[in-house]
Amino acid sequence: RSVETARRKLTLPPGISLHQFERAMDDLRSFMGTEHIEINDGPLNDGDYYHTALSHDSYSVMERDYFIASAVVSPGSTADVQAIVRWANKWKIPLWPVSIGRNLGYGGAAPRVPGSVVMNMGLRMNQILNVDEHTATCVLQPGVTYVGLYEHLKKIGLGDKLLIDVPDLGGGSVMGNALDRGVGYTPMGDHWGNHCGMEVVLPNGEVVRTGMDALPGSNCGQSYQHNFGPSVDGIFSQASNGIVTRMGFWLMPNPGGMLPFMITFKHRDDLIDAVDTLRPMMLSRLLGNIPSLRLGMWDAATYGSKSDYWPEHGGRPVPEDIEDRILEQEDLGAWVFYGALYGPDSITAPTWEVVKSKFAHIKDVRFQLREDVPERSYLHDRAAVFAGVPTWRELDWHRWVPNAGELFFAPISPVSGVDAKKQVGMCKARCIEYGFDYLGTFYIAAREMHHIVTILFDRAKPEERRRAEKLLRVLIDDAAKLGYGEYRTHIALGDQVAGTYNWNNNALMRLNETIKDALDPNGIMQPGRSGVWPKSYRGQGWEL
Ligand code: ADP
Repeated sequence: RSVETARRKLTLPPGISLHQFERAMDDLRSFMGTEHIEINDGPLNDGDYYHTALSHDSYSVMERDYFIASAVVSPGSTADVQAIVRWANKWKIPLWPVSIGRNLGYGGAAPRVPGSVVMNMGLRMNQILNVDEHTATCVLQPGVTYVGLYEHLKKIGLGDKLLIDVPDLGGGSVMGNALDRGVGYTPMGDHWGNHCGMEVVLPNGEVVRTGMDALPGSNCGQSYQHNFGPSVDGIFSQASNGIVTRMGFWLMPNPGGMLPFMITFKHRDDLIDAVDTLRPMMLSRLLGNIPSLRLGMWDAATYGSKSDYWPEHGGRPVPEDIEDRILEQEDLGAWVFYGALYGPDSITAPTWEVVKSKFAHIKDVRFQLREDVPERSYLHDRAAVFAGVPTWRELDWHRWVPNAGELFFAPISPVSGVDAKKQVGMCKARCIEYGFDYLGTFYIAAREMHHIVTILFDRAKPEERRRAEKLLRVLIDDAAKLGYGEYRTHIALGDQVAGTYNWNNNALMRLNETIKDALDPNGIMQPGRSGVWPKSYRGQGWEL
């Protein structure tokens, strides 16, 4: 529900009148001061990657003012976070914590319930609390970005000794990305899997430390991921059961060298053979990082826009004959594999020969190192990312369509050619049916692949935005029918995705709801996050 203010409409938290909201804000100011609170009744600026909007989802798939905050508050300490949580319980106002809020394509900083108060955790809580060279670990507050951590390590003289693992872009929060289970591309690419120890403010305001830090005086807090007894960390990831105020992470000791490479597969059907050849290499850790097998056209999108390549497109998806022409022009194949070998040359050089020999049977396959490709090649940027150096190249493909907004469809696949082909076939057919290009990449771990399909739409065209959302909904259902589920999704689609994980009469959701109700009886913490609704919201029509 929106009310007019002198500046613009203000979206109030559910069930709260303007009068109550104003009193609640006065109460919040009484302990937070005025300067750390912003009422969201100004103009809605989408900003850009560098100037992230905290007021709403700048890549909105629904109406621009649906996923919107009533106010943004920036705590400066764990004690502030506790006080804000107690305040939220008193006024029954939902909170939505973000670390940086650059979760673009998944909802950005926007809350699931309109009128929630967004907590900008990263603005003032942005310290690197510890770096330990000997155990290759660090302890961070929410506002530490990948770039910030990278620069800090250089500043304290450890830049050559400890590598970080960056996702595609380095401006996000290390903590936020790990909590949402994002991935990177070095051997430490599983960000959640490489966290160690958390400090969390629970929905009742209590603070808890997990792992060895639960034992006062322990010096193993960042060395051992568990504590005695139940392992509870998981209930705080992609979840709404607490606000994380500090978190430990493992870093990567410099392996003494790295050989990044690119393998180009010319034909579309090479996908099957490429993936099946990769599987034993991933399992045995011959390839020990998180490499990617990328659609050639997706690479092309980093070199030019759709209009550059095909001025007559008229908003249509690129047909295969035009794709072939573009791939030829850019010296690409239907699929391009980017990987890296880690260690000194004496290890990587012979391993590279082994890698090449495994793929040599695939017709027209090409192997390239950095010295074999032009300066503008995307391989150089992947090489930086594989070495833990943040880059901004991934922003380039936003030029593929004008005013690009992005949405991701992200199913998990076995490392199997048949599955990869099935997923690509289904996704591509549906993308074309809905008038979008299929732009997919597989990020490959030892036993599974994250298949990330990027749907780019023109934000200035509401019809296109709605069509993108419809496409995503169809993809989620189609994938579930084939037995595939997503690892992460936009806030608008959490209910639908959660609904597909329904084995045994929704046993998983019922467990999540039991935990939610026990920890958050007033339902003030991120209601609706990942499709989990607190008791007071259930059956009220909140699901989308
Ligand atoms: P990034 O800017 O790194 O992409 P965000 O700050 O947007 O990440 O956070 C990603 C998601 O993780 C958010 O949607 C938010 O719900 C959750 N999250 C981020 N930081 C915290 C935190 N400190 N405590 C609890 N949840 C968080």
